[in-house]
Amino acid sequence: MRVQSTPQHPFDLTPAPPLDVRQHALFLDFDGTLVEIADRPHDVIVTDTLRALLTDLHSATASALALISGRTIADMESLLGEQFAHIAGVHGHEMKFGDEVRRDEAAHSPIPFAAAEIRVLQRNEQMPALVEDKGASLALHYRHAPHAEQQVRRIALDIAARRGLRVLEGKMVIELIAGPHTKGDALMNFMRTPPFAARTPIMIGDDVTDEHGFRAARAAGGFGILVGPPRPTDATHCLADPAAVHAWLQAGLTR
Ligand SMILES: [Mg+2]
Repeated sequence: MRVQSTPQHPFDLTPAPPLDVRQHALFLDFDGTLVEIADRPHDVIVTDTLRALLTDLHSATASALALISGRTIADMESLLGEQFAHIAGVHGHEMKFGDEVRRDEAAHSPIPFAAAEIRVLQRNEQMPALVEDKGASLALHYRHAPHAEQQVRRIALDIAARRGLRVLEGKMVIELIAGPHTKGDALMNFMRTPPFAARTPIMIGDDVTDEHGFRAARAAGGFGILVGPPRPTDATHCLADPAAVHAWLQAGLTR
């Protein structure tokens, strides 16, 4: 599944309607949505203003705010703090509900074998991507080496086929991932529980992997907001960039 750089059909995205912190449940992607994407995942800039905004929204929504990321929960907490009750990591493979973290351990099994293969390629200088081992997935980042896209994709597809893994493509990253999880499942899992269940879900994201979340939000009576330039999407609304997301969230907080 890849981003279509040229729209294949007309799309009609409207500006996001106002956030209502009493009625809405917020599902927020991180990279490209709350922060600008960096060349390397650990180089993202998280400001104290953003941390404070999210913390305020978490309490204003009575914890009906979930971060839904391809990053691990541990990584998200190292960047944002541990105050958030609900985080889905590795595209829904790990789910934090308050004090409990649930992981689909069974689905990890092929990952160490794939990681070993990739280490051999790295030793032989045949893996130009930056490799991030997230336990349930291996992310191959090539933002720093865009010319290597085809080579990285070829390697990923080959290993995935032999190891029974899925390939998930995002912006300048190709992931080998275990198990069936998507950001859509993560959203649905949260929506089945309080404090989300009685609220209208809004999924905000920028990447192809967020489309599962947009569809799940619609299925649950809510909607998606695409961050970035319009493209074919299951979101119905758009915001221009992370700064516009911050402004929209802040406006909802002070309404
Ligand atoms: Mg993103």
